[in-house]
Amino acid sequence: MAKIKVGIAGYGNLGRGVELALQQNEDMELAGIFTRRDPKSLVPQTPGAKVFALADAPSMQAEIDVMILCGGSATDLPEQGPQLAQYFNTIDSFDTHAKIPQHFAAVDAAAARSGHVAIISVGWDPGLFSLNRLLGEASLPQGASYTFWGRGVSQGHSDAIRRVPGVKDAKQYTVPVQSAIDRIRGGETPAFTTREKHLRECFVVLQPGADAVAVEKTIKEMPNYFADYDTTVHFISEEELRREHAAMPHGGFVIRSGQTGEGTRQVMEFSLKLESNPEFTSSVLVAYARAAYRLAKEGQSGAKTVLDIAPAYLSPKSGEALRAELL
Ligand code: NDP
Repeated sequence: MAKIKVGIAGYGNLGRGVELALQQNEDMELAGIFTRRDPKSLVPQTPGAKVFALADAPSMQAEIDVMILCGGSATDLPEQGPQLAQYFNTIDSFDTHAKIPQHFAAVDAAAARSGHVAIISVGWDPGLFSLNRLLGEASLPQGASYTFWGRGVSQGHSDAIRRVPGVKDAKQYTVPVQSAIDRIRGGETPAFTTREKHLRECFVVLQPGADAVAVEKTIKEMPNYFADYDTTVHFISEEELRREHAAMPHGGFVIRSGQTGEGTRQVMEFSLKLESNPEFTSSVLVAYARAAYRLAKEGQSGAKTVLDIAPAYLSPKSGEALRAELL
C-alpha cells in the first residue's frame, strides 16, 4: 500500500521530533523538510532527507499528503496555519489556549475554501489532555476537573527569568503539589488557589557581579509568572545548568473527581511522564496526520480539533483488528 507522504514545516524541536516519529510509523514517509532559513544550513537526522525553502512548498502539493506545522505558537502558527491550509492537509500544535477559537476560525476559513483538512492544537495540552477533560466531564457530569502540569520545564517561564537584569541563563520547572493531587485522588472536590496547585522551581546562572538577592526578589515578585506561586530560586554554575538541566521533561495529570447515584465516589485519571516534551508531542502530531489523511480521503474539509476526531482514525490498524485487540 502507498505510504502517507508527510512534510515538516519548520525544523526546531518539534520538527526534529516529527522526523524521528515518522521512522516509527511504517505507513508513513518523510517527503521533505521545509524551512524559512537557508535549506543548505540544516542537517536532517535522517540520511538522505531533503530540505526545501518553505516558500517553495506550494509547488509541491502533489508530493505531500499532510504537512505537519512545527512552528511556534506565538507568531509562526497564526500566520502559517491559514497560509499552508490553502495548499495542504495540515496538523499544528497551537497551544495558546485563550486564542484557540480565533486560530480555529482563521484556519477553518482557509481549509474550507481549499477543500483540505486542518487539525489544530494537537499535542498533549492542548491535545490528549483536552480529550481526557472531555471524557471526564461527559462520563461524570457531577464533579470537578483538575489539570496539573509537571514536573517539567516551562519554556515561557524560563524565558521570563532570562529577561531579568543580572541573569545569564535559566531553567524553570513547574511542579504539581502532591498533597493537592492526593486530596482529589481521595475523592474530594476542593477549590484550590493557584498557589495550592503548583510550585515553581528556578535554576539560575548569574552574570558576573550580579546581585543575587535582587535577582531572587525580582523573580519571586514577577506578576503573572511567579507572584502567585511559592517559588524557589537556586543559583548554579553555567556548567551545572548545561549538565543537569539540558533535557526537556514534562508531563502532568488530568483528574475528574465525581459522583454517581446517591453519592458514589468515582475518580478518573490520565497522566503523562515525559522525558522529552517535544518528542512526545511530535509523536501525537504524527498519529493525527494519519487521521487528517483519512478524513481528506473521505471528502471532509475544514478545521478540526482532537475533540472532533474518532480515535480509530489515529491507528494504522483496521477496524477489524482494533475490535479484536483493543475492545
Ligand atoms: P522551536 O523554537 O524549537 O521551533 C519553532 C520554529 O523556529 C521552527 O519551526 C523553526 O522554523 C524555527 N527555528 C528552530 N530552531 C531555530 C534556530 N536555531 N534558529 C532560527 N530559527 C529556528 O519550537 P518547538 O519546536 O520547541 O515548539 C513549537 C511550538 O509547539 C511551541 O511554540 C509550542 O506552542 C508548541 N507545543 C505544543 C504542545 C502541545 O501539547 N500542544 C507541546 C509542546 C510544544 P524554520 O525552520 O522555518 O526556521
